[in-house]
Amino acid sequence: MNEHTLVLLKPDTVKRQISGEIIGRFEKAGLKVVALKLVVPTKKIIDTHYGPDVAERNGPHVRDKLINDFSGQPIIAMVISGVHAIEVVRKMVGGTEPKDAPPGTIRGDYGHYSRAFADSINVALANMCHASGDKEEAEKEIKIWFTPKEIIEYKTLHDMYHG
Ligand code: ADP
Repeated sequence: MNEHTLVLLKPDTVKRQISGEIIGRFEKAGLKVVALKLVVPTKKIIDTHYGPDVAERNGPHVRDKLINDFSGQPIIAMVISGVHAIEVVRKMVGGTEPKDAPPGTIRGDYGHYSRAFADSINVALANMCHASGDKEEAEKEIKIWFTPKEIIEYKTLHDMYHG
């Protein structure tokens, strides 16, 4: 049942200097960071990461904004491991719009912007994190950001107690 999921701390998180707090939330839930790097991605990487499905869901303007706003900006990429990690991390991150994400989620606690506001100022919606949506997406996304050698498996105290 152990899964790996990709989390990106978006440029708004890195520039607000709240990356440590957000990583701490995952760690406190017993999830394990097995890969982590600060990167300045190219347009090509963002284009690969946010594929045509993002444009289908949100409109082509959103994909263009993500590619423009995120490339050349610092992002922290992580692989997080844990039991049901994909579902649990998505739950902790919360829904796309911080305006509607409940308190207790990362997007609900650290933001308040909406899609409408992002569109009104013509930027990608600042919502702190990206987290893979399902197993297939996680496998695809981890390969975009990490080589297998960069993923480091180790035992935490949780692992030692629970096998
Ligand atoms: P999620 O990140 O919650 O899985 P999507 O994959 O549908 O959501 O969208 C990718 C990202 O695109 C969102 O996290 C958000 O940063 C951005 N986004 C979505 N809709 C808009 C919008 N209308 N205007 C600007 N940015 C948007």
